[in-house]
Amino acid sequence: MQLHETPVVVVGCGVAGLSAAYQLADAGYHVTILAKEMPGDNDINYTSDWAGAGLGFVGARTSSSQRVSQETFWTFWDISAKYTPEECGVSRVTQETYYDKQPDMGQIWYTKEAPAFRFMKQGEYPEPYAFGISYTSMTVEPPRYLPWLVKQVQAKGVKILRVQVDSLRGALEHVPEAKAIINCSGIGSRYLKDVLDQTVFPERGQTCVIRTSFKKMIIRSGAEYTYLIPRPASGLLVLGGINEPFNTSPEPNPASREMFKQRAYKMCPELGPPEQMEFVKDIVGVRSTRKGGYRLERQDGGKVPIVHSYGYNGGGYQASMGAAKEVVRLLRGEDC
Ligand SMILES: Cc1cc2nc3c(=O)[nH]c(=O)nc-3n(C[C@H](O)[C@H](O)[C@H](O)COP(=O)(O)OP(=O)(O)OC[C@H]3O[C@@H](n4cnc5c(N)ncnc54)[C@H](O)[C@@H]3O)c2cc1C
Repeated sequence: MQLHETPVVVVGCGVAGLSAAYQLADAGYHVTILAKEMPGDNDINYTSDWAGAGLGFVGARTSSSQRVSQETFWTFWDISAKYTPEECGVSRVTQETYYDKQPDMGQIWYTKEAPAFRFMKQGEYPEPYAFGISYTSMTVEPPRYLPWLVKQVQAKGVKILRVQVDSLRGALEHVPEAKAIINCSGIGSRYLKDVLDQTVFPERGQTCVIRTSFKKMIIRSGAEYTYLIPRPASGLLVLGGINEPFNTSPEPNPASREMFKQRAYKMCPELGPPEQMEFVKDIVGVRSTRKGGYRLERQDGGKVPIVHSYGYNGGGYQASMGAAKEVVRLLRGEDC
C-alpha cells in the first residue's frame, strides 16, 4: 500500500490529536479521529478547551524536547503569518519572563532563535525581580483556535467521529482498515485497558479572565509562579495559575481568583488594583500530568503499531505541532 493511502486512527480530539491529524494528513495518511469529547464541549476533563494558552519556547533540557518546542513555535509562527488572530486565535505578542534570581542559562537555550530576544535591563522589570528576558512570542485562544484547527483537518480529508473506546485496540473495531493507532487520549491513558498508565494523573488548573487592552504575555518564574496570557482578538487577559494534583472539582475557588489578581497586580502594576479589574469569568480545567514528562514513543508488537502522544501537563499547546511532526517520524520508523 502506498503511503498516501495508509489509513490510521487517532484516539483523541484535543490539541494533541488534532495536531497529529493535521501533520499526518499533510504527510499523506488517511486519518480518522475517534473521541468522546470534542472542542467546545466544555467538559472539565477535556483539557484543551481550558488552556491560556502561552506558546513561548520552553525550558526543555533534552535535544528532542527542544526540537518539539522549536517545531511548534515555528509552525504557529507560519499560521500567525497567514491568518488573522480573529480567524485562527493565534496572536504574536511580546513575552517577558521575570526571575527571582539569575537562572541557570542552560534553561534559556533559545537566545539566538527567539525573535527579538534580549536580556532586560534592571529597572525594566519591577521589584523584587533580579533578572528578565523579552522576545516576540505567541498566544493561542482555544475557543477560536480549536474550531479553526477542526476546519483545517476536515479540509485535509480527516474524518472525526464521536466514539468512546475502552481500549486502544478497540479503535480498530471502528476503523478496521487502520494500519496504526495514534494515542492522543490525554488523561484517558490512565484508564484505557491496554494502556493503564498510572503515571498519568489529573491536575486541576484554575485561571481568571479579565477584560483589558493590555497585550503582553508576562511570566513570573520561581516562587509565586504567575502568568498573564493575552487574547488580543477578544480584548481579554488570562491570569493564572495553580496546579492541584488529583483535584477534579469543576467549581472555581474564589480565594484562588483573588490570589491571581493580587499577584498579577504585583507583577504588572499598570493593570490597576484587583478591585478595578473587569472580571469576565473563571476557567477550571484538569491537566493530564505525567510523572517524568510526556510520552511520545512508538510501541510495536501488536496487530498494528501504536504511537503514543500524551501527558502534556501544562504545555500541550507549546508541544502540539512539534509532537505531531514527531508522531509522523515515529510512524514512518524514522530515527527521531
Ligand atoms: C487552566 C489551564 C491552563 C493551561 N495553559 C496552558 C498554556 O498556557 N500553554 C500550554 O501549552 N498548555 C496549557 N495548558 C495545558 C493544555 O491545555 C494541555 O496540555 C492540552 O490541552 C492537552 O491536550 P490533549 O489533546 O493531550 O488532551 P485533551 O485536550 O484532554 O484531549 C484528550 C482527548 O482524548 C479523548 N479521549 C480520552 N479517553 C478516551 C476514550 N476512552 N475514548 C475516546 N476518546 C477518549 C478525549 O475525549 C479528548 O478528545 C493549560 C491547561 C489548563 C487546564
